Amino acid sequence: NKQVYAFGGGATRQGPRSRDKTIVGGKGANLAEMAGIGLPVPPGFTITTEQCVFYLAEGNDFSDSLKAEVAVALAHIEAAVGKSFGNPADPLLVSVRSGARVSMPGMMDTVLNLGLNHATVAGLAQTSGDPRFAWDSYRRFIQMYSDVVLGVDHHLFEGALEIVKENNGFYSDVEMEVQHWQALVKEYEEIVEAELGRPFPQDVHEQLWGAIRAVFDSWDADRAKVYRRLNNIPGDWGTAVNVQAMVFGNMGDTSATGVAFTRDPATGERAFYGEWLVNAQGEDVVAGIRTPQYLTKAARERAKAKPLSMEEAMPAAYGKLAAVFELLEKHYRDMQDIEFTVERGQLWMLQTRSGKRTAKAALKMAVDMVHEGLIDEKTAILRVDPMALDQLLHPTLDPQAPRDVLTLGLPASPGAASGAIVLDSDSAEKRSAMGEAVILVRVETSPEDIHGMHAAKGILTARGGMTSHAAVVARGMGRPCVSGASAVSIDLASRSLRIGNRELKEGDVITLDGASGEVMAGLVKTIEPELVGDFGVLMEWADRHRRMKVRTNAETPADCRTARQFGAEGVGLCRTEHMFFDAKRIASVRQMILAEDDDQRRAALAKLLPEQRADFHAIFEVMAGLPVTIRLLDPPLHEFLPHEDAEFEDLAEMIGVGAATLRRRANELHEFNPMLGHRGCRLGITFPEIYEMQARAIFEAACEVEAQHGEAVVPEVMIPLVATRKELEILKALVDRTAAAVFAEQGRTLAYQVGTMIELPRAALMAGKIAEVGEFFSFGTNDLTQTTLGVSRDDAARFLGAYVEKGIFPRDPFVSLDIEGVGQLVRLAAERGRSTRPDIKLGICGEHGGDPDSIAFCEEVRLDYVSASPFRVPIARLAAAQAIL
Ligand code: ADP
Ligand code: MG
Ligand code: MG
Repeated sequence: NKQVYAFGGGATRQGPRSRDKTIVGGKGANLAEMAGIGLPVPPGFTITTEQCVFYLAEGNDFSDSLKAEVAVALAHIEAAVGKSFGNPADPLLVSVRSGARVSMPGMMDTVLNLGLNHATVAGLAQTSGDPRFAWDSYRRFIQMYSDVVLGVDHHLFEGALEIVKENNGFYSDVEMEVQHWQALVKEYEEIVEAELGRPFPQDVHEQLWGAIRAVFDSWDADRAKVYRRLNNIPGDWGTAVNVQAMVFGNMGDTSATGVAFTRDPATGERAFYGEWLVNAQGEDVVAGIRTPQYLTKAARERAKAKPLSMEEAMPAAYGKLAAVFELLEKHYRDMQDIEFTVERGQLWMLQTRSGKRTAKAALKMAVDMVHEGLIDEKTAILRVDPMALDQLLHPTLDPQAPRDVLTLGLPASPGAASGAIVLDSDSAEKRSAMGEAVILVRVETSPEDIHGMHAAKGILTARGGMTSHAAVVARGMGRPCVSGASAVSIDLASRSLRIGNRELKEGDVITLDGASGEVMAGLVKTIEPELVGDFGVLMEWADRHRRMKVRTNAETPADCRTARQFGAEGVGLCRTEHMFFDAKRIASVRQMILAEDDDQRRAALAKLLPEQRADFHAIFEVMAGLPVTIRLLDPPLHEFLPHEDAEFEDLAEMIGVGAATLRRRANELHEFNPMLGHRGCRLGITFPEIYEMQARAIFEAACEVEAQHGEAVVPEVMIPLVATRKELEILKALVDRTAAAVFAEQGRTLAYQVGTMIELPRAALMAGKIAEVGEFFSFGTNDLTQTTLGVSRDDAARFLGAYVEKGIFPRDPFVSLDIEGVGQLVRLAAERGRSTRPDIKLGICGEHGGDPDSIAFCEEVRLDYVSASPFRVPIARLAAAQAIL
């Protein structure tokens, strides 16, 4: 196979490898592509990534065949440009540029003006008629080459330049005359010789191979390795090397250089967007030595800037550039990020690639491009990263607003919120009930904080990772959350907190940015999300293409309403225990739990029945016409018990039992490993009256709603933590019995189903048997991950980070399903379930139901639906469509 591919200068087609990013890298492939469609690209050649891998493996040596191919390709450039490399009369100069498959900061910096030496600099002065330009180019070359290839500290050169300017009383480089550059070149050469003990290389071929070697070596540089690790880029890709004839943006006022986007990457607006500089070379635009100017007249006027835009200063070249933008978009059918140079009025293209963009811009461009006929609906759906939608669904901080950042925690749940600091959940509830915006600040949260988290606009915790209780619950509720902000220390006694060296009191206003993890003092202005327009259009397209339904995990009418607005097609998981934490009814719940006998328990349950019925009634009204899966009580009972002595005494008084008795009962309930203890269906088996009460509440509420509205939900009663067919059989019989009783009392019947969660490995293995009884399965992948991996989610934060860093898990298995492992159980349970009940309904209700990679897997095993927290519903709709396209 060829290892060197020529581009531009009339190079003929060289087969698919010459445009294959894996072979010639992204930059090389796109340069060849642009040249191929007739755009002005300075001629050059690309050495393949394969050669880089080979060079690094073979002990840093170049093969003779590579040298021969490079010689041929160099001759091609010389012929195309009409100059020759190293020729003192009319020298060819080149740039040497790295270019991996994907753009990779951390790789070697580009070397420009290669091929200059004492002899050729005179030739360049002659042919360009501009000695100042020639010597400026030479000093740039020495500086870049010495820094990038020879490893000489660039500060030495910058220092020398400063001294020359100072000695002559110059403020800027523009004032330097040819003799000043010449003197500086001499100094530069002395610096190199002093640093390296040998002169700056004068042989142009030595220069070229030195630069090629440096590009290859940079693949294994530390900063490149770090970047690869952070971005999951394999170490064996290698980088290509691009060698390209120089064009000069620094040949006076008819020359320029710039970077541009074919559309606005921030808003998606169909307007050219970019920056340029007159009389400058490539790196000047980004280096910040001079302030770049606006590309278009409109942008300049909007910014009320004085220096002329390119559109005004160089109308002809700008006109050509605008035509190139159109052509590139038509060709690539996507927004392009480009680099260009104008040499004495002539436009040259130096790079193009698909441009990075904000979520908002991605959405707008995808929809606009369908309307423009550039792409079809399917492509539009695939263009938008579902996770990026998250940015659009929550209020965000006004980027213009000033920020006083106190500390940085983990970006646990997106969105921005401001409010008064409150340090406990009861205060949060009270103050928010009076209309105050509050931020709940805790060391960490527990299930008892649910009401406070709900009442708060945002949550800040000092401890806990991205999958801590606070993070998971906040994401579920759509509340912004910053977790693990270890600089926060709370002093409950004085109701104050310290963040770093700043003191704050309860009631002081702070602002959280859950997308960045920033915690700021005071109120920072936010911008509300807009879910109409392009967003709505793209969602409609996604709905048209997806097969899986999308439901939501929600247990309050407010969350259900939000989810329906986001397009949820039912509730996939309604966790009834959240209803039990409500401040008003926790007492009855505790009474029920601490009961000494069935009678006491029934008395307490009787008080809970109307409350629970009202919960379901409200949810069923919101979800009318749709299926609602309700999980019967799941957590270990101790989670509901009081912790403080005072609470025990209050409770004892209320239910007329001694505090000591209560505490004894609480001790009896203590478990060593509650997550594997007395919970889930095990509660239903031992305390059938609890599940009976819940089933009764469900069916009574459903009958009421149907009687009132004519349209009911389809209740799906879900039994958690089933391991055996027998458990489900017993509990299904209980639910069926209760339904029959309610229907007889109400004089009406309703369609309903009884099914189970698959969240224990045994349940997955026995799915065939279990499906003989259960009418649906919902994969509870949070617990299934815990139980399959033997990893407690609540304790995993201590080591999961290290595990992901070391590559033991590719991603946090609680965030993205462990498809290779846990996925097998899901696949197997789906198959076995369908083998005994072909029409069994299958869904997923773990956090994974909102994760695009996990959703793709759900489509692969043909689940019927995924269920995600309300704010993830749009993400799931888009991901479900992408999964099937
Ligand atoms: P990066 O990947 O860091 O952008 P590039 O290889 O694209 O590095 O080059 C950096 C700068 O040098 C760019 O602004 C580019 O326009 C300029 N440049 C690269 N090659 C040439 C060339 N042959 N002629 C003129 N300018 C060039
Ligand atoms: Mg570039
Ligand atoms: Mg579970």
